[in-house]
Amino acid sequence: MNYHIDTIPVLDAMKQGGECPLCAIRRKSELQQIDRFLGASVMEPDVRIKVNAKGFCQNHYRMMFGAKNRLGLGLMLLSHLSDMKKDVDNSLKKAEGGKGGLFRQKSDDPASAAAARLREIGSGCMICEALDEGMKRYAYTFLHLYQNDSEFKRLFENGKGVCLQDAALLLEMAPQALSGEKLRAFLAALHKQVKDNLERLYGDLEWFTLKFDYRNADKPWNNSRDAVERTINKLEGWCVGEEPNPKDK
Ligand SMILES: [Zn+2]
Ligand SMILES: [Zn+2]
Repeated sequence: MNYHIDTIPVLDAMKQGGECPLCAIRRKSELQQIDRFLGASVMEPDVRIKVNAKGFCQNHYRMMFGAKNRLGLGLMLLSHLSDMKKDVDNSLKKAEGGKGGLFRQKSDDPASAAAARLREIGSGCMICEALDEGMKRYAYTFLHLYQNDSEFKRLFENGKGVCLQDAALLLEMAPQALSGEKLRAFLAALHKQVKDNLERLYGDLEWFTLKFDYRNADKPWNNSRDAVERTINKLEGWCVGEEPNPKDK
């Protein structure tokens, strides 16, 4: 597979030393995408066609709504809705013409097909798609750096690892980027990192809960004050607490 190798964002994210460098990259890209879709690019014909067909998920509409560019969002929605209302009308018209009864496949039933189309409108997202595609490229770059850059390898093996969702991405990408002994060595390093860092978080989280015992009230928090956020982010990918990139605060 051919991926353009853009090493600088991956190196920079690793140097930040957070719970997951890939989450830090995803968050930065996500904020850029929000700006992009509220800006002038959404009026470019090829972008507009894609937005009209797909729209955005709840999470990304929420972020765009929070960005306070109501005109940008309104113009984009106007274009999207103009296409969607015809599409929805067609689906419902077909559903209305259905005769009911039992169907071999749900897609043969016009009412189920219309329901599936409405759900698709709710779930499709230009930003999620762009992020997923971009993150495959960054995971590939991550693996390339692990193999070719000893400083990156050292940082990874001494760092806080990655979240479980990005561990999954690296597991999926590793056989495309590495082979033989190099693949085995990476998978062993990933296993160790995930295991050791879940243990570290377990310790932090346990101390967080013990701090609520009055006998520990005067003892230091150590690294436990934000253990709840970091555990959620480790399991799910970054979604709560402090921004993963300090300058995006
Ligand atoms: Zn992550
Ligand atoms: Zn989305």
